[in-house]
Amino acid sequence: MSPTPVGGNLLSMTGDAEVLDRVRADADRVVLCRCGGSGRLDHALVNPPGEPERYVRDTFTCTWDRPGPHEPILPPHV
Ligand SMILES: [Zn+2]
Repeated sequence: MSPTPVGGNLLSMTGDAEVLDRVRADADRVVLCRCGGSGRLDHALVNPPGEPERYVRDTFTCTWDRPGPHEPILPPHV
């Protein structure tokens, strides 16, 4: 496997399976990045139809032009 070039600083957030409700997902949209900047988290809706909205963190996008790593610093799980 050869390393694939990273374009757009888009990271998959698979591996973080914390489930958030809408309020927490909204509050969780802008997070600090390990590069010293901050980025935007997008959330994926995971609830079945007809059930209350449930989100998981899907992708993280950091727009700061800095050397990486561009990884979200997530708040501690409570
Ligand atoms: Zn960054």
